[in-house]
Amino acid sequence: MNNTPDTYDAIVIGCGPAGASCSTLLASRGRRVLVLEREKFPRYHIGESLIPYTYFPLERMGLIPKMKASHFPRKYSVQFVSSNGRVSEPFYFFKHLKHDASCTWQVLRSEFDQLLMDNARDHGVEVREQTTVRELLRDNGRVTGVRAVGLDGVTMDYHAPITVDATGRDAFVATRNGWKVRDPYLNKIALWTYYEGAVRDAGVDEGATTVAYVPEKGWFWYIPLPRNIVSVGIVAEKDYLYSDGRDPAAIFEREIGRNVWIQQHLAPGRQIEPFRTTGEYSYRSRYCAQDGLVLIGDAFAFLDPVFSSGVFLGLRSGEIAAGVIHECLTDNDVSAERFTGYAATMRQGIEAMRRLVYVFYDHNFSFGQVIRNHPGLVGDLTDCLIGNLLLDFDPLFDAIARFANVPAPLHHGTPLPATELSANP
Ligand SMILES: Cc1cc2nc3c(=O)[nH]c(=O)nc-3n(C[C@H](O)[C@H](O)[C@H](O)COP(=O)(O)OP(=O)(O)OC[C@H]3O[C@@H](n4cnc5c(N)ncnc54)[C@H](O)[C@@H]3O)c2cc1C
Repeated sequence: MNNTPDTYDAIVIGCGPAGASCSTLLASRGRRVLVLEREKFPRYHIGESLIPYTYFPLERMGLIPKMKASHFPRKYSVQFVSSNGRVSEPFYFFKHLKHDASCTWQVLRSEFDQLLMDNARDHGVEVREQTTVRELLRDNGRVTGVRAVGLDGVTMDYHAPITVDATGRDAFVATRNGWKVRDPYLNKIALWTYYEGAVRDAGVDEGATTVAYVPEKGWFWYIPLPRNIVSVGIVAEKDYLYSDGRDPAAIFEREIGRNVWIQQHLAPGRQIEPFRTTGEYSYRSRYCAQDGLVLIGDAFAFLDPVFSSGVFLGLRSGEIAAGVIHECLTDNDVSAERFTGYAATMRQGIEAMRRLVYVFYDHNFSFGQVIRNHPGLVGDLTDCLIGNLLLDFDPLFDAIARFANVPAPLHHGTPLPATELSANP
């Protein structure tokens, strides 16, 4: 093991959207930041459909010109298709949001995440790829850095006043500390693949995300990507998807047969990738911070992706955390409670989206029904869908509660109180 101490202002574990935004925005404030990333980029990742408010963290990171110059399809709307193939009036973001942000993107994550990593380096972040963090270093309960292994097998210790867990659904800290709390209800699995040459709708709808229902409140995503490729996946309860066996091809074929729109759109295409699957759908860490440590992105919380909120929440959490960390470093105080405001903001945003996800799966709910009964609430609903999450959505969800079961907020996700440190070393 190489024990040469190397000291930074902040160490970020993982260079997905959350780690990239946090590190970039710290470095842009003059902080010395090290990012340790397990993979060699470009690497595959799911999570391809952005929502309009993603624009704002990307803007702060200086990435809008590159996004505008990219070949990523423009996404102006999301539409919902019932299992009999009936297409809803699309939610066009520009009808509600009079800003450039109303046009967002469908991204190839391999390219998008590479862009984020390159941009972090351009801002002065030191990024070490193929370097896996194995453990946190601690001093009297405070996190003081990480121990990591590079491709050459050499173990290195890195030190900083603050460490940021941005490890995505690996959820490095929450998993090791037993902090991962699954959502009591949102427990689906996803099965997906890629088609080339499938139908793309015309004009402004060409880059739309389509959410197509199958019976039992399962749904397909249909996301147009560059090079005439479409990302298509099904999300549903495990028992439902595996009711006739576990062969992914057979399950996919059966489900395609249950939505005529998906069937017709995929018909001229050909599958070009193997099936991929994932479970463990929605969770949140019991704590978002302890002394010298903060959790961001999926490492903090993961929400069912029906409304494509993950990349936005990852970028935004990194952006907010960077602001707090910068102040903590200035004050020479990286105690957990400094992240109380971060926790409150993130939990408010996640809860807004979570309520929408819950009602989406409620058999008694449909967007059309709510809007017909409460046309004045279409703006609130659109705000939630585009990621403008820090509003008072109580009027919207009070109205929705007449049709569907709206969940109470979850209380976890706050900083670890000093009194509980001994139980959570
Ligand atoms: C089926 C499915 C569909 C989805 N669809 C969408 C969508 O359409 N739109 C959307 O916005 N979101 C979607 N998401 C969510 C989205 O993928 C995530 O929310 C987003 O990638 C979170 O970013 P992140 O930076 O937190 O984590 P990640 O993007 O996962 O990045 C984490 C990084 O940490 C690295 N890492 C992990 N462990 C270590 C370690 N020990 N040491 C060093 N590095 C490590 C990993 O290699 C990885 O590069 C979807 C998710 C799923 C599962």
